[in-house]
Amino acid sequence: MDRSIEEVNGKEEPQVRKQRPGHRATIRCGDVEFGDGDFTVVAGPCAIESMEQGLATARVVAKSGARVLRASLFKPRTSPYSFQGIGEEGISILEAIREETNLLIETEVMSVAQLGLLHDHVDMLRIGTRCMRNYELLKEVGKTRKPVILKRGMSATLKEFLLSAEYLLVDGNENVVLCERGIRTFETYTRNTLDILAVPALKELTHLPVIVDPSHSAGRRSLVGPASKAALAVGADGLIIEVHPQPESALSDQEQALDPAAFLSLMEELRTMAPVVGKSL
Ligand code: PEP
Ligand code: MN
Repeated sequence: MDRSIEEVNGKEEPQVRKQRPGHRATIRCGDVEFGDGDFTVVAGPCAIESMEQGLATARVVAKSGARVLRASLFKPRTSPYSFQGIGEEGISILEAIREETNLLIETEVMSVAQLGLLHDHVDMLRIGTRCMRNYELLKEVGKTRKPVILKRGMSATLKEFLLSAEYLLVDGNENVVLCERGIRTFETYTRNTLDILAVPALKELTHLPVIVDPSHSAGRRSLVGPASKAALAVGADGLIIEVHPQPESALSDQEQALDPAAFLSLMEELRTMAPVVGKSL
């Protein structure tokens, strides 16, 4: 049962709360929609590494039928000694990818300065798990009208997650797609524990679309397919998934990236499954 309007309005997160039973937002990014029965796949490498790697990945993503490339130029790494991303010089790679493939470009922003640099060159922004609580960044992204994927903080409750989304909406950016990417638990076999019930739970609470990141939750490529299928089955509006032309030589997240063949075959499987759960892909 949807909660009554009296129960949901006037609480701490009035804008992200469903305004009425069945209230669902559809978020547009170019010619793509998140919500409204679509299962929208955002795919690409963990990080853009070079022109060659970026273009090679983009060609695979375009071939799969997905329309949005994840294309991070700046990476939030646990260690300062790890690859930090190609940075600003990658903007020309994004332009070349767009020119050749016509894919929509999605990228991570970690700071207000990066937002200024990237805003005009991309179609969609991503705020990662570590920045879910970067409230100054949320406020600035809230002032834009760019579609944005907001990832759940790895230790955030759903309420805290929704309050971060509220920061975006309250400043006027309603184009928010929520992403469950796994949370920290005592389990270490997987990188994070995919909180699969976060998907239907969020859908009880908010009108915003919800996607799943099977890559950063699983942390190992053998589990990316099962996590993706679970997301589709449980009602997610899409995925954000890592694919690399040569995962063994990736500069970040080697263990979880799908190679092109595995990615293309997963897309085919999802395309077969989607109509069964009332989605189109
Ligand atoms: C990412 O999607 O590139 C990423 C760093 O994921 P997360 O913020 O979920 O760790
Ligand atoms: Mn990654």
